[in-house]
Amino acid sequence: MSRRGNSSSIVTVLLFVVAIAGVVFLYNSETFERVKPTIALQSPAYWNLSKPLSIRISDASGISHYKVILNANGEEQLLSSGIFEEKDRKKELDLEISYPKIGGVLKTSEVTLRIEAIDGSRWDFFAGNKAIESHKLSVDQRQPNVSIVAHNYHIQTGGSGIVIFHAKDENLDELYIETSFGKKFIPQPFYKPDYYISLLAWPVDEKSFSAKVVAIDKAGNVKQSSINIYAKKRTYKISNIALKERFLKETIADLAAGFELTQGVDDSLEQFKIINEEVRAQNEKLIHEITSQVPTTTVHHFNPEAFYPLKNAKSVASYGEKRFYSYEGKRVSTAYHLGIDLASVQNGEISIQNAGNTLFASYNGIYGNMPILHHGMGLYTLYGHCSEIRTAVDTQHKAGDVIATTGMSGYAFGDHLHFGVLVQGIEVRPAEWMDKKWIKDNITGIIAQAKQIIDNL
Ligand SMILES: [Zn+2]
Repeated sequence: MSRRGNSSSIVTVLLFVVAIAGVVFLYNSETFERVKPTIALQSPAYWNLSKPLSIRISDASGISHYKVILNANGEEQLLSSGIFEEKDRKKELDLEISYPKIGGVLKTSEVTLRIEAIDGSRWDFFAGNKAIESHKLSVDQRQPNVSIVAHNYHIQTGGSGIVIFHAKDENLDELYIETSFGKKFIPQPFYKPDYYISLLAWPVDEKSFSAKVVAIDKAGNVKQSSINIYAKKRTYKISNIALKERFLKETIADLAAGFELTQGVDDSLEQFKIINEEVRAQNEKLIHEITSQVPTTTVHHFNPEAFYPLKNAKSVASYGEKRFYSYEGKRVSTAYHLGIDLASVQNGEISIQNAGNTLFASYNGIYGNMPILHHGMGLYTLYGHCSEIRTAVDTQHKAGDVIATTGMSGYAFGDHLHFGVLVQGIEVRPAEWMDKKWIKDNITGIIAQAKQIIDNL
């Protein structure tokens, strides 16, 4: 073989390799990608014809054409379309499609939406990849039905309440109680089909209270119904506490040694602020997570007894107290006291007056050893600063069981119980749930009244 022939065959092979590499490169490049655009509908099964339908078309090489065609009453109508130059092509196209105003009266309970999209790929002889999707949409223009059956007459700042209502829709999707302060209470099914019940709570740091039931169906029809509960303002004690040098240098310094957030912080006033604000916030976040859960089961009975967790106890600090802390005449920190402090004897036995399930039974920062129990319907009790916990997570307790003993674990000076009551993650005034008459007038009496109304319908 001559040298010349040899080198020309090498060139041929090289050209071939380059050509193959070029084809492989193009085949794998975005310019020639072969993936169809994806089409997604926000609510792919229902439409109320008044709320625009949200459609998202996405593709890696950008969208070059799209069409949205409605088939209603057997006739096709183009609702929206677009052609995009290469420089204007988006990888994600969000469309809001409205039902045509001159569409006439719909004679069917179903419409079909056809969505076509072509991407900017040069695949398929520069035609691009085409996606076609058809969605049958049930037309539902009816609002859910909501009516309030019963609620307690008034709710106080820091207090609890209850509401029972009727809600019905063929395609019910969401049901909750919206409040003026952003909290959504989640109702449980109650007694008979399409009835619901929920406890309510007015957080102590919120100036006002109002609430409404909100029902939304799968087609996006919304019905709201106000709960005309009388919101009665209640004021709570304000305490000004001057921090003493000795308290900071001894008590706080000792306490700070046990918290992660105060490691490496030497100034005891700084340590106090971290414990009173950041550690407290962390501990309360955990408490709120545990106590925000609401069962989905149907409530047939809810008949709580008054709580008195500690026998022969006297109250040493009340719920709702706003504590302003100052040092050398300057205000340095603030906190709300969100439970009632009860004291009797050292290591006094703590018992529950209502059956409950233990959800937490460990140490929680400033709360010390702290069991939390659920008594049904999103009603929780919390026991802080215990010396000993006598329950474990997932234990089902009956009324009368001893679950812990009082102590001074966590941020506590002197043996006492910090007793907290929570409704769907909100600390409420324990005094109400410790008062037999209040429970009858505001909770159990309202439930009995609601059952009577429902039975007579
Ligand atoms: Zn306390």
